[in-house]
Amino acid sequence: MATDGEIDKDCLVRVAVRIRPQNSREIIDMCRICTTVTPGEQQIVLGSDKAFTFDYVYNVDSNQSDIYDECVKRLVEGTLHGYNATVLAYGQTGSGKTYTMGTGFDHTSGDYQLGIIPRAIRHIFAGIEKLQHPEDSDTSATNSQFSVAVQFIELYNEDIIDLLDPFNKNSTFKIHESANGQITVAGATIKPINEPQDALKLLQQGALARTTASTKMNDLSSRSHAVFTLFVRRQHIIEPKIDFSDSDFETLTSKFHFVDLAGSERLKRTLATGDRAREGISINCGLLALGNCISALGDKSKKVSHVPYRDSKLTRLLQDSLGGNSQTLMIACISPSDRDFMETLNTLKYANRAR
Ligand code: ADP
Ligand code: MG
Repeated sequence: MATDGEIDKDCLVRVAVRIRPQNSREIIDMCRICTTVTPGEQQIVLGSDKAFTFDYVYNVDSNQSDIYDECVKRLVEGTLHGYNATVLAYGQTGSGKTYTMGTGFDHTSGDYQLGIIPRAIRHIFAGIEKLQHPEDSDTSATNSQFSVAVQFIELYNEDIIDLLDPFNKNSTFKIHESANGQITVAGATIKPINEPQDALKLLQQGALARTTASTKMNDLSSRSHAVFTLFVRRQHIIEPKIDFSDSDFETLTSKFHFVDLAGSERLKRTLATGDRAREGISINCGLLALGNCISALGDKSKKVSHVPYRDSKLTRLLQDSLGGNSQTLMIACISPSDRDFMETLNTLKYANRAR
């Protein structure tokens, strides 16, 4: 396992499974629990005999902090050292994607409930602070200047909505690839932030814009992908000269995408009903293409050389942060109840392809 800020090149894609607790409806309806976790084995058994092994398996009693500390912390450290990272939450609607990711961020919920994004925001700022004021005598990092910025967009029907400027209906956002392979969304708001509080405010503002639209449009959030991105720029002096302007600078830029994916039930349902509506097709596109990309990246035999990023807007957007110098964590969120058995099986199969 790699140490602080280093990335483990042999394991660029990891997969976690998280089982949410039964909700009160399921308890009232006396749904049975059809998932079993083998302690210490990172294995989940669905029903009596469908066993799957993942990098991490979290049972119903796991905490938000367990997941953050074990799976995400490392990726945030990498971001401070110039590596990109992506965390994706996959699963059927109601399985805990938004809860786990923290995309429904609410100031009134206690620290204990905080999802991945607010934790990562705090951690990045704390990490910068630590690098700039190291306890030991290593002064190399104190020569660093950091800047952090935030973007929050939603992908719906292959269209992009700017959650930090949701009333901006005029722009048609385009995904742009620069000569060195960097992906940007032309026209989308990127807000510089100076302290965690600023980023948390933007997260909440965007989350609110998303839920508002969702209520108006028959649960839009189950049909769209929300992508919150933190940009970290580190500029440091390699060789200080007397005349400061003449010094050699190195700039490391990295981004961390947090993706709350569309409900996975849409992948199948739209296909099964033969629904040729634009929406059905494009959402399928994103989740399908993502599955194909992640599975190509996770192929340890390296037999697959082509990663089909261009097959959807979602994978195109994530292109420079999946594979290469990036670390990816897919969190498959599932329900423990027997009535969701088939959806859960589909989710576990999808997640299994990523390994
Ligand atoms: P999704 O985004 O996948 O549709 P949500 O994150 O909105 O699902 O979760 C559905 C409901 O279940 C929410 O009320 C959420 O607070 C609750 N929930 C999900 N996961 C957990 C968990 N691990 N612990 C407690 N409550 C959870
Ligand atoms: Mg959700």
